[in-house]
Amino acid sequence: MITLSQNQIDRGLDILNNLDNSKLLTHLNSCVHCGLCSTSCIYFLADQDPTLTPANKVDLLASIYRRYFTFLGKTFPAITGARSLNDDLIPEMVDKFFGACTMCSRCNIHCSIGLDIAFLVRTGRMMLSEMGFVPATLQSTVNAALSTGNNMGITYDEFVDTIQWLEEDLQDELNDTTASIPLNQPDKNVMYTLNPREPKFFPLSISAMAKVFHAAKESWTISTEMYDVTNYAFFSGNLAEASIIAHRMMNEMEKLGAKELILAECGHGDRAFRWEAPNYLKIHFNFNIRTSIELLADYIKSGRIKVNKNIIKQKVTLHDPCNLVRNGGIVEEQRYVLSQTVTDFVEMTPHGIDNYCCGGGGGQLAMSEYNERRMKTGKLKADQIRNTGAQIVVTPCHNCVDQLTQLNSYYKLNVQIKTLAEIVADALVLD
Ligand code: SF4
Ligand code: SF4
Repeated sequence: MITLSQNQIDRGLDILNNLDNSKLLTHLNSCVHCGLCSTSCIYFLADQDPTLTPANKVDLLASIYRRYFTFLGKTFPAITGARSLNDDLIPEMVDKFFGACTMCSRCNIHCSIGLDIAFLVRTGRMMLSEMGFVPATLQSTVNAALSTGNNMGITYDEFVDTIQWLEEDLQDELNDTTASIPLNQPDKNVMYTLNPREPKFFPLSISAMAKVFHAAKESWTISTEMYDVTNYAFFSGNLAEASIIAHRMMNEMEKLGAKELILAECGHGDRAFRWEAPNYLKIHFNFNIRTSIELLADYIKSGRIKVNKNIIKQKVTLHDPCNLVRNGGIVEEQRYVLSQTVTDFVEMTPHGIDNYCCGGGGGQLAMSEYNERRMKTGKLKADQIRNTGAQIVVTPCHNCVDQLTQLNSYYKLNVQIKTLAEIVADALVLD
């Protein structure tokens, strides 16, 4: 049972009543109801539910705007389809903006007039956040990051133990005691970040990148204070909390004095820090930032590491993470790396910037109440994978790895899911 106070309503409406934000006003008021975006959205495609089209999500937000900020909407709400922000509307807003959108932006590139629909969904999330209606499951992930420094609440001792164990294993594998995973080292070329899923569930992806750094003779380090590349507050719609997390990363870079920040394979983390943080922090970083995907491509291109494409003989396909590819423009680097490390590569249909979201983005993996819907929307991706006939699916994003791993089991795809660093490590030729 929801009982909205006037204060909550005012705070929510303040997000919409932003006359300085010309993008918001333009995109809120421009939908021409052509319907062309419908078939771009995995939620509509999953069960043809007309209430889940991107246009319906745009209209939900626009109808609130009309009700409070236009003459016709204030005077004739019923005729103009204007809707009041009240107790009844909140569950629908939570369901549409949090539960039925991964903010993948595929609809943006299919919209006949180029609306930024994902941006409008994020505005809806910001209103809900302001009014205190972020799903508790997503908020607890943000709270863990705020209170412990990483979204999984991994303790310092647990993290250091894991890294030490991985380092010993790496030294045994390479028969080389100089192979290391350096922690908190000042003045290195690279400060490398991780998705907390790596130390928690997928530690071998840390070893893979450490092996590549060793082969490249890179000067690098990981911070124990701030290694978490993720920022779920960007997706919960709370920019104050997103700013705290992004500031910590920036401060750690400055404290350790590394020349370049290399962001791990994590689509939303890369987007939230590299491309979006300068906007919401309103600052320019005074250090260089790249994703590990670009770094891996650069190592191979420059001859800094050697790889043999004949080691991996299975058929390989690639899942393009929305935040990296459609929203970040990192499209060719992962294809170049795969062209040098595997022999039998096949693209999904569609792929690249038109690729389907796997269904796990925008915080969906954190919101367990939508698990059933998440598996249903993931069927498109499962079918795409099955149609390639691939045995290995590579994706440069740990969030996507998690969703694809669940789809693999749910739809019995019988494939291996790997990060790009794991593929490069498997194809490495060491002196
Ligand atoms: S951003 Fe993606 S999930 Fe959200 S409405 Fe658009 S296509 Fe659908
Ligand atoms: S394609 Fe764009 S203009 Fe057309 S209905 Fe969808 S959001 Fe509106």
